[in-house]
Amino acid sequence: MKKLKVLIVDDSLVQRNHVISLCKEQTITQIESAENGQVALDKLRVEKFDLTFIDLEMPVMDGVELVRSIAAEKLIESIIILSSKDPSLILSIGTMAESDGLSVVGTFQKPMKPEDLLTSLKRLANERVKEKKQQKQVPLTKEDLVSAIKNKEITLHYQPKLTVKGLLLKGVEALARWHHPSRGFISPVEFIDASEKLGLISELTEYLFDIALRQKAQWSQHGINFHLSFNLSPLSLTDKGLADKISQQVAIYKIPPKDIVLEITENAISGEISTAIETLAKLRLKGFNLAIDDYGTGFANAQQLSRVPATELKLDRSLVDNVATKPQQKAILKSTVNLSKDLQLITVAEGVEYFEDFLLLYKFEVDLVQGYYFAKPMTANNLNIWIKKELADIRKKLQQDLNEKNSN
Ligand code: C2E
Ligand code: CA
Ligand code: CA
Repeated sequence: MKKLKVLIVDDSLVQRNHVISLCKEQTITQIESAENGQVALDKLRVEKFDLTFIDLEMPVMDGVELVRSIAAEKLIESIIILSSKDPSLILSIGTMAESDGLSVVGTFQKPMKPEDLLTSLKRLANERVKEKKQQKQVPLTKEDLVSAIKNKEITLHYQPKLTVKGLLLKGVEALARWHHPSRGFISPVEFIDASEKLGLISELTEYLFDIALRQKAQWSQHGINFHLSFNLSPLSLTDKGLADKISQQVAIYKIPPKDIVLEITENAISGEISTAIETLAKLRLKGFNLAIDDYGTGFANAQQLSRVPATELKLDRSLVDNVATKPQQKAILKSTVNLSKDLQLITVAEGVEYFEDFLLLYKFEVDLVQGYYFAKPMTANNLNIWIKKELADIRKKLQQDLNEKNSN
């Protein structure tokens, strides 16, 4: 974080100095300040900053106008909004800034606290990692994918799914990983999408499912029993032979279908869904569990949802991430959890990164959680180590955080 260059915009000298000293505590050394929006804008037009702290009420040009100009001229990506106004107003200006394309790493009531800055810096770091990953985008060809499968370059990582109550390891989700020999890490979103477009998704799915099942069989042999979640492309659901193919694959490894959760995205069940339902019904009849993935991002309505023979509902990261700080999002999350419960589905929250979000999920009685706060996706070997060594520490830490919270 040492190399960060920040700009603090506030008309009050006392407030500016307060934020400056917080930044210095975090070893940020490149700090500049401005007393109103216009002065800030003039600086931003000639110098590059990593982060700007914006007060809302200022003379000459206020924070709202500054935010809009920054977004329109693409002068900076990440901002923190500070104000002495009430939190819902600060938040709604944050939402406005995000819809203008800015990354709002924090919205706080003044005076800013050391932990506010820490959370914001953590979010800023996360955003930067994401950006780096999204950079290079040379289109993949059919040959690239065929050879990746043939040479076994594509593998699986596994991310734990834990019970909200007691953090018991309930299952793992298999996530595809491709480390290309010369291009490096390629995101699954990119190569799954390419496989769909190039007509290779069945081959890839069969290949990955085989790896997952072999691994699951190994875990079972070692007495490690949890369910395995596996992602299916919506395209696969139009394949009438899918249910039989998948059943044959699990039979080879003598894995009971009830130990497998097949995840399909919400979008696969919105729109024209009769073929999808036929395949899903067959899979369910054969004993597989079915999860609706990424729920909250698509357009499936409650009725469509009720017609799918699903067993599990996965709340998308966009509903979960930072929910504790966003009242509207909280309301949507709560009603979605209730819908899921009314439909008797197991409710899973994905993308849990913060303790405060976990607390809410606990309160809403979500069943399972998955997210970086507990564990990132990892190789099967690392997962074995994680189970033996780290899981107990995570439970302990959570308990400490809970105790601390209760004593405050
Ligand atoms: P998904 O099924 O929604 O998987 C969850 C994604 O969220 C994974 O990204 C996971 O690494 C990430 N994630 C988990 N916890 C957190 C968190 O706390 N914070 C953040 N920021 N991210 C978190 P990943 O592995 O990059 O996969 C992206 C998508 O690619 C998956 O989304 C899934 O749609 C697709 N995908 C991955 N593997 C497969 C596969 O084997 N088959 C198919 N058809 N699709 C796959
Ligand atoms: Ca998934
Ligand atoms: Ca998901």
